[in-house]
Amino acid sequence: MTRRRTTRKIRVGNAFIGGDAPILIQTMAATKTLDVDATVAAVDYLAQSGAGLVRIAVDSVNDAKALAEIRKRTSANLSVDLQENFRLAELVAPNVDKIRYNPGHLHHLETSLSWEKKVEYLAKVAGDFDVALRVGINCGSVDPQKLEKYRAQLADRDSEIRASNDPSAVFDPLLESAMEHVDFLDSIGFTRYCVSIKDSDPETVVLVNRRFAKLRPQVPLHLGVTEAGSPPRGVLKSRLALETLLSEGIGETLRVSLTVEAYQKSLEVEAGRSILANVVSGNVIDPTTRLPKLNVVSCPSCSRVQNGRFVELARTLEKATEFAKDYPFKIATMGCRVNGPGETDDADVGLWCGADKVNLKSGSTPIGTFGYDEVVEKAVKLLREKIRLYDEQLK
Ligand code: SF4
Repeated sequence: MTRRRTTRKIRVGNAFIGGDAPILIQTMAATKTLDVDATVAAVDYLAQSGAGLVRIAVDSVNDAKALAEIRKRTSANLSVDLQENFRLAELVAPNVDKIRYNPGHLHHLETSLSWEKKVEYLAKVAGDFDVALRVGINCGSVDPQKLEKYRAQLADRDSEIRASNDPSAVFDPLLESAMEHVDFLDSIGFTRYCVSIKDSDPETVVLVNRRFAKLRPQVPLHLGVTEAGSPPRGVLKSRLALETLLSEGIGETLRVSLTVEAYQKSLEVEAGRSILANVVSGNVIDPTTRLPKLNVVSCPSCSRVQNGRFVELARTLEKATEFAKDYPFKIATMGCRVNGPGETDDADVGLWCGADKVNLKSGSTPIGTFGYDEVVEKAVKLLREKIRLYDEQLK
């Protein structure tokens, strides 16, 4: 395997990320957090499958109470991702080994408080309870002001600044957000953190993480392609990004996100192990492999999914839109109301799932709310109309 770089080493429960530690594979339980028995069984199974850290969704005080029970019943290393409600940190911290916060989510609640004050609070909680942090930047929830600032570069995928080798060239809102947060955490003396910078486009994941690794070489990186979708496409996307970066020695921990049922989450661990094996043997995917122009993305699902039909819906839609593979559109299917509305805003055809109905969108414009049995047909109709307009423009 290519010689790995040396970053800071951070402790996460009884595991380490960075430094001379082996690359840690992570995954997430998709069982309902309130179902303590099922979640403990899932966490233990995933840990036995090779996950060094298992994430659990906690959105409420009741979830935090369930987490406390789960903690008592498993010795696996646990992490929790905070959404907008960053104050839950003090409830979950006693029962986890790592907390992930998303800088893009810190702008929503307690708006009179600056993001710096919120991060100071999170770092204090992490320090008090002996847990690590992950600064988790995600393309679906980036600071809108940063999106605006980098609009031109985002529109021009072949821009010189993206291709430049100049490490001072920041070309992306995800990258700027990551640097802003690591610099702030360092300035307040909190260094027990890693960073993830995830996009649904593997090429962007490579470019942004490669540049970040040059700019902040001391910071351990958690690699992943967000909303990679169902296997085999989701595995292919992840291989393209992760095998490329790991072959360059970049990446200290990873998660392969796949849209699969809760009981199949070990597939994420298997895919992670196979990526590491490919890198060790040098049998990595050709980084110039082209994906179909039609970008089909879907979230990996988690405890927040309100209807178990989400995974089947994402798969059905993927098959039903194969006819459009040569068109440059994005189709996004998200499993819940927490991240679904925001993370479908940049999709030409976006679906986010509620308990009984699915919300269909075109960009940020709502089209309607439909039953699980009828929404695929509506989505395909919307896509066909976009293709018709696109073809007409080319004439
Ligand atoms: S979109 Fe919702 S259901 Fe899907 S992974 Fe994200 S939080 Fe979980």
